Amino acid sequence: MQSLIDHARAFPTRAPQSTGELSGLELGQSPEALFITCSDSRVVPTLITGTRPGDLFELRTAGNIVPEYSTEHPSGEMATIEYAVSVLGVRDIIVCGHSHCGAVGALVRDEDLTQVPAVRGWLERGASAELKVPGAGTDGLDVAEPVQRHALAQLDRLRAYPCVAERLADGELALHAWYYEVHTGAVLAHQTTGDEAEFLPL
Ligand SMILES: [Zn+2]
Repeated sequence: MQSLIDHARAFPTRAPQSTGELSGLELGQSPEALFITCSDSRVVPTLITGTRPGDLFELRTAGNIVPEYSTEHPSGEMATIEYAVSVLGVRDIIVCGHSHCGAVGALVRDEDLTQVPAVRGWLERGASAELKVPGAGTDGLDVAEPVQRHALAQLDRLRAYPCVAERLADGELALHAWYYEVHTGAVLAHQTTGDEAEFLPL
């Protein structure tokens, strides 16, 4: 913890401020994209995308799950998405799953989560039963294909948000599914080539 405090204390004197990178941010924000990914500490969106303060609006959830839209039970995740789309007017939403994902891995392996009931409830709420893969091992790469399917399922959830549907219909918004390898830094994106759609290197 101490190193975090030391860095925070020295932050105003380090590069971003001295190069003027932070100047003007007090006037507002106009991020170009909403980046939805897992809370996993190995995934650092600004590092992956080379973005600077003000460029990227972020939503991080366990397993990069997008909850189903509900006006009866609004959540912080829904509010973040709605704000990004309707108020900030982001033109792109990226849902980025990752290799070695503990959340999706727990779903794939149908792990016993009774000791972490909030995690269990969140994952059950957010994931489809098809993610379970009988006999799946603990190798992080075993979850690659389920993580990719899971990311695509979150795009389907997003399409059901009224604000997203409206801006998609107007051609003012695009959705993207990415897959990030935490140990290589490789980024794959769901892309259409001919009649096929698959995850390929960016
Ligand atoms: Zn994860």
